[in-house]
Amino acid sequence: MTGPVDGRGRPVLTIDLDAVASNARLFAARASGALMAVVKAEGFGLAAVAVAEIALANGATWLGVATLDEALALRRSGLTAPVLSWLNAVDSAFEEAILHGIDLAVPGREHLLAVGAASAAVGRPARIHLQADCGMARDGSPKHGWTTLCALARRAESQGLVRVVGIMGHLGCAADPADACNAQGRRTFADAVRVAVLRGLRPAHRHLAATAATLNDPLSHHTMCRVGVGLAGIDPSGSTSLASPVTLRAPVVSVRDVLSGTPVGYSHSWRAPSKTRLALVPVGYADGLPRSASNRAQMFVRGRRCSVAGLISMDQSVIDVGSLDVVPGDEVTIFGPGSSGEPTVLDWARWAGTIEHEIVTGIGSRVVRRVRRSDDGSLG
Ligand SMILES: *Cc1c(COP(=O)(O)O)cnc(C)c1O
Repeated sequence: MTGPVDGRGRPVLTIDLDAVASNARLFAARASGALMAVVKAEGFGLAAVAVAEIALANGATWLGVATLDEALALRRSGLTAPVLSWLNAVDSAFEEAILHGIDLAVPGREHLLAVGAASAAVGRPARIHLQADCGMARDGSPKHGWTTLCALARRAESQGLVRVVGIMGHLGCAADPADACNAQGRRTFADAVRVAVLRGLRPAHRHLAATAATLNDPLSHHTMCRVGVGLAGIDPSGSTSLASPVTLRAPVVSVRDVLSGTPVGYSHSWRAPSKTRLALVPVGYADGLPRSASNRAQMFVRGRRCSVAGLISMDQSVIDVGSLDVVPGDEVTIFGPGSSGEPTVLDWARWAGTIEHEIVTGIGSRVVRRVRRSDDGSLG
């Protein structure tokens, strides 16, 4: 136990699992093949295990994460569904991955060698997904190395070191369905699969689409869609209305009445334009509120939106509540689904000049997570 877990007096991020469930059902219905629930980065800042469990209960059959540590944490929590981990350095604990039945992405020769060596060490073939770069120059094999990678993987397969169970790619511009780079990425992926088959591989799973492509680009679905941020209620393409599971609340710590001209916060970047009341909210940039949203963002208290006054500090922010009768202990909603008029994650992203992903994954570890089912109100 590292501190109070009930959230009393502290900022709390409430995660509505029914909203995640409804998003999972929507994606499972849209995907022409299987649905992989991507729960990297603590399930996009929510709660990886809870999101994984509810997604698996609502149509997902696979789990996906970036790192091996994230994959092992899912196994430790008792989840037995197939898990794929795709972002690991060559000196990662691949032996442990193989022993825990975790699938590994292989983006090149060095990874194939490292995974093959781990497999020889534990005496069990690794399950791998060859990863092709489909136009991002980021985390898959470039085209020019692909044929060789497939040939090497086939050899490792015949030596009993690996089983190539999948081919994966990723689209760089899926949030903009009209972008020609999507068709180009699909072609690159189709070519990659063709080459793999020509080299003797028989990958049962071929997956390219993430959230935006699952919603907008059926030609990209192949045998599986990998959906992450969509489960958190965020559609990068803005095309589909999803259920928002997150609400961030904190209690007012103190209030004060100030005279016109009173400077607020570091650097005095804001001065009261007239006599007003200020409320102190114990959430700052260390808790994930982007400092770049200072003097623009709003919070919701006593049924009204109130502006952030001055620079957001590391641990705290000040809001201008005007003439509202706000008292210490009042509940402030920093963001939520928006149904009561409170700001949303999208509002915060716009105020900060960023994307919604960065807001939800940035919520700090000091913020208590409270997982809720709206049907029974239970807290977990
Ligand atoms: C994060 C990630 C996903 C999930 O993307 P969303 O847009 O969040 O659905 C899928 N595949 C890979 C390789 C990723 O890194």
